[in-house]
Amino acid sequence: MSVPVDSLPPIRWPDRPRSSYDVVIVGGGGHGLSTAYYLATRHQLTNVAVLEADYIVSGNTGRNTTIIRANYGLPEAIRFYQHSLEMYRDLEQEIGAAILHQTRGIVWTAHTETAMRTERARCLVNTACGARTVMISPAELKDVVPQIDLAGGGRYPVLGASHHLDGATARHDRVAWGYAAGASQRGVDILQHTPVTGLVHAGDRVAGVQTPGGPIAAGVVLSAVGGRVTALAAHAGVRLPIRTHPLHAFVTNNYAQELGSIVASTELVCYVSQTERGQMLIGAEFDAQPSYSRQSSFSALRAYAYKMTKLLPFLRELRILRSWAGICDISTDFSPIMGETGVDGFLVTTGWGTWGFKAIPAGGEAMAELIATGRAPALIEPFRLDRFARDHLVADHGSAGTR
Ligand SMILES: Cc1cc2nc3c(=O)[nH]c(=O)nc-3n(C[C@H](O)[C@H](O)[C@H](O)COP(=O)(O)OP(=O)(O)OC[C@H]3O[C@@H](n4cnc5c(N)ncnc54)[C@H](O)[C@@H]3O)c2cc1C
Repeated sequence: MSVPVDSLPPIRWPDRPRSSYDVVIVGGGGHGLSTAYYLATRHQLTNVAVLEADYIVSGNTGRNTTIIRANYGLPEAIRFYQHSLEMYRDLEQEIGAAILHQTRGIVWTAHTETAMRTERARCLVNTACGARTVMISPAELKDVVPQIDLAGGGRYPVLGASHHLDGATARHDRVAWGYAAGASQRGVDILQHTPVTGLVHAGDRVAGVQTPGGPIAAGVVLSAVGGRVTALAAHAGVRLPIRTHPLHAFVTNNYAQELGSIVASTELVCYVSQTERGQMLIGAEFDAQPSYSRQSSFSALRAYAYKMTKLLPFLRELRILRSWAGICDISTDFSPIMGETGVDGFLVTTGWGTWGFKAIPAGGEAMAELIATGRAPALIEPFRLDRFARDHLVADHGSAGTR
């Protein structure tokens, strides 16, 4: 049974924070809010605050291209994202808010023999780990995406594609607002315009946060601050293997026909999907140069448009309505970092880079379990921070952008 579209439950906005909480979550994006929700619903921990510097969902969660998939390159990643993908299917019922979830499938086109080998390997490892991905021929691809130019404009001929059947999309702001409402109704305090400017220390442990309104004591502080994590972690004396890079996206006016599947190219490193309003939403790989800038750039826009129009020539007839950028926290092995930091009382959920929207349900569920029980669920064990010191990287460049 689907939830009516206008059914977004209200959020309670407290005037000021309490002086102390069991858990303070820094950052009101999807990960901070879903963790708060699961703390309240699965673990009955409601003496919890989410502190957001700006307004909730103003960061990457409100800027992303909403693609949900599990077609990763490594078993650890596939299992984690597959679990999240499955949680998304039932999320409307779970949070009682319509999130406009649609399973559409994703095709990843290959234009060279090397890419064909990569996609074949992806299909095998996906299948072995429970994600449904199959190789398709150019003719089969044409059936899935009739608009595609198999000659790639003479520049990028399509040799085949992997087809990830369960690829999906959902409304980003509704997902996060649904979690926020569910947490708030159970007693979690969500405070907007409350930046965390430092951490409170008690001996070797973190015991709270500093805000412009004064300190707030906390049993546990979780950093869920998106691209700003290195600055916050530095207050705890934690140096993270993370760099922050901008990522751009843009949207066109409505396309009257339907583009059923999401179309992506691992080699051209760009992707396109159709929004529920009919617009074409286009994204690509993050900027090579680290930066905190959220200004969209004409050169990025021109590069994506050039490549995507070779595959989908109809895009040339459309107009670009808006472009924007977010700032992505990219770890050195291109996988997320979830869990303890070596500093008592200070946890992180970070490294979500260009791929963290799809992880919001599973990431929040796992972080809530870790905070409530002190034990990390097996699903996120591979993503511990100390993997870098132990030389157990989850090196999946395939997690980044379209790769
Ligand atoms: C253009 C673009 C396209 C993307 N496309 C996809 C996609 O298709 N699929 C996918 O899975 N992922 C995608 N992503 C990635 C995804 O959006 C992010 O990984 C995810 O939203 C991260 O969520 P978060 O909650 O960790 O961070 P955010 O949503 O960024 O939230 C962090 C919050 O912390 C707040 N904050 C920062 N510092 C402080 C402080 N000191 N005190 C208090 N609050 C603070 C910020 O204001 C922000 O609201 C995309 C990202 C971008 C930019």
